[in-house]
Amino acid sequence: MIYLDYNATTPCDKRVVEAMLPFFQEKFGNPSSLYYLGQEAKNAIEETRERIARFIGARKEEIIFTSGGTEANNLAIRGTIEALKKKGNHLITSSIEHHSVLKVFQSLEKEGFEVTYLPVNDAGQLDPDTLQKSIRPSTILISIMQANNETGVIEPIKELASLAQTKGIVFHTDAVQTMGKIPIKVKDLGVSLLSASAHKFYGPKGIGFLYLRKGTPLSPQIRGGEHERRKRAGTENVPAIVGMGKATEIAAGEMEAETKKVETLRNTLEEGLLSTIPEIEVVSQKAPRLFNTSLILVKDVEGESMLLNLDFEGIEVSSGSACTSGSLEPSHVLLACGYPHEIAHGSIRFSLGKFNTAEEINQVLEVFPKIVEKLRKISPFGKSEVH
Ligand SMILES: *Cc1c(COP(=O)(O)O)cnc(C)c1O
Repeated sequence: MIYLDYNATTPCDKRVVEAMLPFFQEKFGNPSSLYYLGQEAKNAIEETRERIARFIGARKEEIIFTSGGTEANNLAIRGTIEALKKKGNHLITSSIEHHSVLKVFQSLEKEGFEVTYLPVNDAGQLDPDTLQKSIRPSTILISIMQANNETGVIEPIKELASLAQTKGIVFHTDAVQTMGKIPIKVKDLGVSLLSASAHKFYGPKGIGFLYLRKGTPLSPQIRGGEHERRKRAGTENVPAIVGMGKATEIAAGEMEAETKKVETLRNTLEEGLLSTIPEIEVVSQKAPRLFNTSLILVKDVEGESMLLNLDFEGIEVSSGSACTSGSLEPSHVLLACGYPHEIAHGSIRFSLGKFNTAEEINQVLEVFPKIVEKLRKISPFGKSEVH
């Protein structure tokens, strides 16, 4: 099997699994217990907190563990709004956010908040001027992702966040796709809140964290205990937290070397596809992009058909985003970039990772052009039928 869907999830690094194992059995204590077994678990959690804080240039107390990226995003947005709703009712986000951000804002609109969804240019980039113009006296929160999971485009968070900072507006960024891929320094970015998730960087599923800058107001969304400085109640998922700590340690040591390797593979893939398949396009190829992601538009072919045909050959990729695959709606990100429906339907995303090899990429370059050729022959969208 050739796995090329690392933006959907990554396999756990073996060293992550090894680090987690003792915490299921010998070291199973509840971190809230005062005796040795509990304190042993507590210390393991605090070590991870310290490690993550150091990695992103934060303080230990500024890290809140959550059940993943989705919960971190929900907590950041709903927690800020609950704390600040007396100050205003206007919120700003972008039209290309992950559903774990977009759906929260959509539900807030139903609750009476006013939401501005910032547009992107045709390369999927946000313009700081557009953000500046949309800020109102009643704006209480701005949430913009650091890198998009479908296109890989990296947004100018530093510029965007500084606009928020000068107006005293809370700024959140979904950094799920950047954590472990590019260096993150929260002070440098100037954000008040930042979300991440372990299973996107070789850690386990069901664990993530929210960075909350000291002094930023946040109401807990899960109540019950004193855990996580009263910001997120519930007995900590100790093995997963330890796993996320190990994944962070590995990223700190190996990220740079992996980046070069994976980028070379991604570029080989793109160059190979562009030179063998007519009428295809790499989305946002000229924009600042994650080194591992390649979103390809193939004219006159359905994304789902390409996905299933590749799967039949043992090659696992995604059509558009993981959340949109399975439904017939084209990707909201491609629509926001200005692509018409029929073009957006022909999207296929390759997202690479550290376990991919040059042989695997050669195999894809061997197989994929044939699949496209076959599908184009039987395509229901003949050139004459495109409207
Ligand atoms: C995967 C992803 C999430 C959700 O994280 P989970 O831990 O799977 O809940 C949020 N935002 C982005 C950009 C993602 O890629």
